[in-house]
Amino acid sequence: MDRKIGVYICHCGLNIASTVNVQKLTEFAQGLEGVVIARDYPYMCSDPGQELIKKDIKEYGLTNVVVASCSPTMHGPTFQKVCEEAGLNPYMFQMVNIREHVSWVTDDVEKATEKAKLLVAAAVNRVKFHEPLEKIHVPLTQSVLIVGGGITGIEAALKLANSGKKVYLVEREPSIGGRMAQLEKTFPTLDCASCILTPKMVDVASNPNITILAYSEIKEVSGYIGNYKVKVVKKPRYVDENKCIGCGLCATKCPSKVLDEFNMGLSYRKAIYIPFPQAVPRKYTIDRERCLYFTKNICRVCERFCPTKAINFEQKPEEIALEVGAVILATGYDVFDPSVIKRYGYGRYKNVYTGLEVERLTSASGPTNGRIILRDGRTPSTVVIIHCVGSRDENYHVYCSRVCCMYAMKLAHLIKERAPNSTVYELYIDIRAHGKGYEEFYRRVQEEGVIFIRGKAAEITESDNGKLIVTFEDTLLGKVQQIEADMVVLATALEPRKDARELARIFNIPVDKNGFFLERHPKLAPVSTVNRGVFVAGACQGPKDIPDSVAQGAAAAAEALALLSQGVVEAEPVIAEVNKDLCSGCRICISVCPYNATVFDRESKTASVQEVLCQGCGTCVASCPSGARTLRQRGFTDKQIIAEIEAILLKRFVPVEVLITET
Ligand SMILES: Cc1cc2nc3c(=O)[nH]c(=O)nc-3n(C[C@H](O)[C@H](O)[C@H](O)COP(=O)(O)OP(=O)(O)OC[C@H]3O[C@@H](n4cnc5c(N)ncnc54)[C@H](O)[C@@H]3O)c2cc1C
Repeated sequence: MDRKIGVYICHCGLNIASTVNVQKLTEFAQGLEGVVIARDYPYMCSDPGQELIKKDIKEYGLTNVVVASCSPTMHGPTFQKVCEEAGLNPYMFQMVNIREHVSWVTDDVEKATEKAKLLVAAAVNRVKFHEPLEKIHVPLTQSVLIVGGGITGIEAALKLANSGKKVYLVEREPSIGGRMAQLEKTFPTLDCASCILTPKMVDVASNPNITILAYSEIKEVSGYIGNYKVKVVKKPRYVDENKCIGCGLCATKCPSKVLDEFNMGLSYRKAIYIPFPQAVPRKYTIDRERCLYFTKNICRVCERFCPTKAINFEQKPEEIALEVGAVILATGYDVFDPSVIKRYGYGRYKNVYTGLEVERLTSASGPTNGRIILRDGRTPSTVVIIHCVGSRDENYHVYCSRVCCMYAMKLAHLIKERAPNSTVYELYIDIRAHGKGYEEFYRRVQEEGVIFIRGKAAEITESDNGKLIVTFEDTLLGKVQQIEADMVVLATALEPRKDARELARIFNIPVDKNGFFLERHPKLAPVSTVNRGVFVAGACQGPKDIPDSVAQGAAAAAEALALLSQGVVEAEPVIAEVNKDLCSGCRICISVCPYNATVFDRESKTASVQEVLCQGCGTCVASCPSGARTLRQRGFTDKQIIAEIEAILLKRFVPVEVLITET
């Protein structure tokens, strides 16, 4: 086939043009064999830039297009679409990254231009071996799995269910609600958290399109975009959910008392319990580790008193198989454990608290019914709140947790409201009040008499009379100072869930350097992931307040909805294929495939690729002992790759007879 190649060099404003001599590069491209037209343009991705390519495809009858610009992850699909719209098969296109790979990594114009020339020549060599490929079309299952029933997962579930989609909401704990259920009021408006959360939880429970799988975890996921097969394990509550009416008689009679984790260990619950009064589903759960029957083979009092005979000590974990078209991960965050900062004495001094503990102290349904009563029974008259505990600290987390300044101010407000005679200090590094109404809230608490001191606490010690001595440097005065306090509150960081990496592995998505789930693009695809069909939202993607979490939950629902509405999904045809005549059936390719896409066909005794599962990673191709004639990767054939390498290493810019012949 006679190739007519068009080459398009993008300036990307000055991003590329300030380092790569784009005029020289264009002249060079014009001289390459097979190139009929080479152009440069300030923004090739802009409408006029795209039109330029479309016009040339038609006018010159181009068989191939090479665009040298930014990352193909960013604009590869844009230019493929341009080709398609001009009637050219999109796989006759090749993209060269002369921004991230060239102009952004050096200031040396000469060397950058030379490297750009080699990369363009390699692409021109390569496209000569491109063949038209056709996209694969796969039907989509019209249901969505949401993992995590906090405010983010709840928002996403309601949006999808109200649009008519079936939703499975998997929550690890016995109730949905997440961290928001533990909060008393929410900044900056001071809405009662339960009053705005509980109606949504009830809506989730009553929506016929939502199945809540509480006290459940994801075990296994297989399949691909539009067609995921998920195994969920429902942990035994030892209480039949269909029979339990949530009357609570069992808990009243249960003799076993344990620390209540919902109240951050500041009160007790029974071994049979619901986590909080507004729990959804309102079904009791037996804590196997604390139940006298399971630990000592005695008691069974709950069974005797249950009016509906719901107690079932024989209950086993139940495996539930789901088929879904898309997945939203909304698993939220863990709170930093400040006991590792020994100089703050958390866990050693009884009146040093975390922010979440004080949330529970201020809660009307909390351990003290909303009164600020210390562990030693006193009401504090001096309180110090320390910001950035575990955040913005190279020893722990370098990132800002984004909500701590605001929740620290909210707690100061609540403490002054509940203990009006108290003096409250905030020790801060910088105040970050970035959201709508946040700066105003900062002013409000200042006007309420909260004292702000710029400085980080160095140490907390306890004096003989039980007072806490907080030593810090006031960085505005340049002086080391001390405050004698009755109570210290540590505004602890938000961090990734302990099992975030494991969940990321199950769903085949990456995590960022801090361990939060990594979005596909921080600005343009903030809730998508590299695994199409798997979305992330809320605090599992990075520290976030409730408004941002809700916005992301809704955004992820919209993405999932947009996907499912297509009815069928287009899968990339750049995948492996087997030459059955030559395959020896050794099965090595099957053992190395990370997507279980290669299977053994018993009839022909050869390997076979399941097209929709194959992600085109090429592992099987590299492992095939019989070489390229047997197993090859469409769009990454040896001919194409060797042509590229030759251009770069041997500087052969004209097509050479490639050594390997392919069938
Ligand atoms: C002390 C404190 C006070 C705060 N106060 C405010 C405030 O006043 N205003 C405000 O806007 N923000 C506040 N925040 C932030 C707020 O808590 C978060 O924005 C919000 O909880 C994020 O919601 P989420 O659903 O993303 O995560 P989460 O609330 O963490 O919910 C995630 C859910 O996923 C579940 N889950 C986790 N892993 C799995 C798994 N593997 N399988 C199944 N389920 C799983 C969890 O059990 C949980 O129910 C505060 C934070 C703290 C620490």
